[in-house]
Amino acid sequence: MQKNKGKVYFIGAGPGDTGLLTVRGKELLQRAEVLLYDRLANPGFLLEVPDSCERIFVGKREGEHTLVQEEINSILLEKAKEGKRVVRLKGGDSFVFGRGGEEILTLEAEKIPYEVVPGVTSCIAAPETAGIPVTHRRTARSFHVITGHTAEEGITDQYAQYAALEGTLIFLMGIGNLKQIVTKLLEHGKPKDTPVSIVEQGTTIRQRRIDGTLGRILETAKAEEVKPPAVVVVGETATCRMTSDNLLLAGCKIGVTGTPHLVKQLEFSLRELGAQVFGAPYLQIVPTDTLKKKTPAWKSYDWLVFTSANGVTQFFEQIQSLGIDRRSLGHLKYAVIGEGTKKALWNYGIKADYIPKTYTVRELALGLAEEIETGERICVLRAKDGSKDLEEVFEKAGIDYEDLAIYETEVDEKILELLWEEVPILDYITFASASGVRGFFDREKMQNELLGTLVCIGNQTRKMLEQKIQKQKSLKQKDIQKAGTEIMTPQKIVVADPYTVKGIVQKILECEEGKS
Ligand code: SAH
Repeated sequence: MQKNKGKVYFIGAGPGDTGLLTVRGKELLQRAEVLLYDRLANPGFLLEVPDSCERIFVGKREGEHTLVQEEINSILLEKAKEGKRVVRLKGGDSFVFGRGGEEILTLEAEKIPYEVVPGVTSCIAAPETAGIPVTHRRTARSFHVITGHTAEEGITDQYAQYAALEGTLIFLMGIGNLKQIVTKLLEHGKPKDTPVSIVEQGTTIRQRRIDGTLGRILETAKAEEVKPPAVVVVGETATCRMTSDNLLLAGCKIGVTGTPHLVKQLEFSLRELGAQVFGAPYLQIVPTDTLKKKTPAWKSYDWLVFTSANGVTQFFEQIQSLGIDRRSLGHLKYAVIGEGTKKALWNYGIKADYIPKTYTVRELALGLAEEIETGERICVLRAKDGSKDLEEVFEKAGIDYEDLAIYETEVDEKILELLWEEVPILDYITFASASGVRGFFDREKMQNELLGTLVCIGNQTRKMLEQKIQKQKSLKQKDIQKAGTEIMTPQKIVVADPYTVKGIVQKILECEEGKS
């Protein structure tokens, strides 16, 4: 009966950065039917699973009910017995102090098949991204990973052994017991001037490195208010700084919002320049059934108009699933709003016939009104609730057009919530559409103040942003208290120039230059 059973995949997610998920881990996430996950340092992982996947949060969260290990074990069993492909995603590697072994024993007892996908463990990744190699020629010939939990259990003889080791000592879960760890190492003869480095929230946007020596680290850690998760590195390599700081956006913390495709693209460009990026792709594209309900008579149109790259992708995916042969569109001309949309169209082998000089809906409509021949008909394929400028211009110019909403955007609350937690530390937040701004603000509680610079892709986005901020400011004091909202006072709103993803990067570079 084995074949009727599901399978459980233990996947190490790595320490936070989604780029550190393994290729095998990613392909399994993309096929998951049930996902059990702990508190993740990065919302990006949740996006890998299909929409239909059941996501179950089993992690710890301050003040909230948490599932105990037995409950997690029983969910794993239950879902696997239902015949599901279950992914158990764990931080770092599942077996490095990850209790993966306990969960596996439960499955083995019931003969449930499973697979283990190793992950990039924080004990190597956190020091390394902070510039500390765990071994180094001549300086450290070994490294030793130790749990900080046992420090208070009086296992002093072990500390005598640890103190005698010449390699790098790496303590996980060591912050709560930092005092005991340091004291015991010193007691057993580790010199006071042994270098120590603490790497907090390694590989995430909140990564911090705090340096010291065994003699001084307690004082420094206290002054810096070091918090878990963090690794404590003890040994000569803790003096290394193998990171490149001469990049233009080094040290800059940027929150990137938008649809998954756009966030990925912008995140990549910003990271290239050394920025620490929190990608928050909370805008999900949802196709509408407009084309399915009533497929337009393409022959009766002369132009197709796209106001976003997402519109292009949606259009071609939808007509393909409707079984429409692309040759039936052969006579059409194409107008696009800007560079990104032009590129998306070219991905389908089609060159744009018209692109306005300024990338706005108004300019596109005005320019197109000039461009088209008398009597030509236009079909606009875009998102629901698109800019009214288009209708206004076309009506005024007496143009025969149809405006079809082929997709809409939905907000993924979970991702948005994680972004709001990071808001206080962000130097910049980027917005690539008015709907992105709307989604960002439409929440009951704004728990944090917006202090960073807000970067908009264009003027429509900026207008929406100003409107939302104004609304926030005009809330009466009692409403503010009732909603738990704070008045937000962003430092600055800037607009990309040109209105493209590249323009956003350019604008941030300009802002940074202005600071120095
Ligand atoms: N299985 C995980 C470790 C789980 S134990 C792994 O392989 O990484 C939890 C401890 O891991 C934390 O107390 C901390 O010491 C360390 N840790 C996890 N994520 C971290 C991160 N992003 N930066 C620094 N330390 C981290």
